[in-house]
Amino acid sequence: MWRRLWLFWMLATAAQAQAPVGGRVTGPGDFADAPSPAWHERIEHETAANLAALRRAGMLAAPTAATAANDLLWPLQPVTGFDQFDYHGTKYFVDHDPRYPGFVEDYTCGTRTYDLDTGYNHAGTDYYLWPFPWWMMDQGLVQVVAAAPGVIAAKADGNFDRDCAIASSTDPNFVRIQQDDGLSAIYLHLRNGSVTTLPIGARVAAGDYLGLVGSSGQSSGPHLHFELRDAAGAVVDPRHGDCNPAPDRWAVFQPYEDPHIVSLSTHSAEPRFIACGVDEAGHAIDETPFFQKVFAPGGTLWVFASYRDQRNGEVTQFRILRPDGSVFAQWDFDLASEHLPEPFYSGTAWDWKYTLPADAPPGTWQFTADFAGQSYRRAFVVAAPAFDAAAAAAQRAQVGATAARCRPRAGEAPPPNCPP
Ligand SMILES: [Zn+2]
Repeated sequence: MWRRLWLFWMLATAAQAQAPVGGRVTGPGDFADAPSPAWHERIEHETAANLAALRRAGMLAAPTAATAANDLLWPLQPVTGFDQFDYHGTKYFVDHDPRYPGFVEDYTCGTRTYDLDTGYNHAGTDYYLWPFPWWMMDQGLVQVVAAAPGVIAAKADGNFDRDCAIASSTDPNFVRIQQDDGLSAIYLHLRNGSVTTLPIGARVAAGDYLGLVGSSGQSSGPHLHFELRDAAGAVVDPRHGDCNPAPDRWAVFQPYEDPHIVSLSTHSAEPRFIACGVDEAGHAIDETPFFQKVFAPGGTLWVFASYRDQRNGEVTQFRILRPDGSVFAQWDFDLASEHLPEPFYSGTAWDWKYTLPADAPPGTWQFTADFAGQSYRRAFVVAAPAFDAAAAAAQRAQVGATAARCRPRAGEAPPPNCPP
């Protein structure tokens, strides 16, 4: 009887989900933007003037097919060597409800969009860097590339890129492409100094480099605001849905909710996020993930997982495996256990802390996750502390000196403090 109760207690304990030590979720204002009306008007004029000049010079062909569908390629590209599963979340879509403020309707008739009391209805789609947006921006890990071929109709660079106020007065760094399909594509908030050096009128192919993801202009965090306009200047939403009758324009369909684990990683300390690229005094500050891949037995191990589109009720199975595949730790995680205000977040990140035992077997360990039908794994290494040649030499010298000082001499008593 006691044995059965004991077993039941053991099972109940094992089934209990392990709560993360730290968490982070995207908030309502994160990665938003609001190009100022004055900037918008100026860029419209500049673009029209540039296009007129290009047309006069015979450098602008007539649109090939104004209604071409499925012609847009994914506009982001991680740099060579980038080794995580993904690098982005999707925050806000186009607002199809012209009323404001507080009247929002995305292409599915949902509310993943926004408007402002200034009369701005979000006119593009926001793709943000995740899970360490400022660190990823500073490392230059994600490039913005042309979604479709065309010519450069306008661009700007040299503007500050660590601002976080969507009411900021700084201009965005951007590239505007007059696409061959007749649409105009705007790539906003690029990193300062990263904008393509190609001149106005230069041709770009789909996939060509335009700049790095940044946070210049009226932007609350590192993201790409991708916006399409037709020849009359009206906003075109490239996603088809119940509240947008226009055809889907993406070559690869992008689902409304796209639950994925974006990254798994291991760290020497809890990652330190920043809300903005500057402190309150306006000085640039860094985000510090404390990535670490090699751990000593007895050391502290932080494991970290980030998600795109995580919803209550979706359970992740996490495991930490020793080199022989045996389980060091395993736990289930459900967003619902965090009792957050919303049942869904477009970006989340969680971490858990472990102490490795002093006899942790050396070799390659795995941190794994099973989520939404997919398996993810990240290797890390447990190894004895690296051999410290300088410390070993100092120790040898110390031993040598002691031996010389303590060497017995005929007729003398042994010096003090010598080993027997
Ligand atoms: Zn935007």
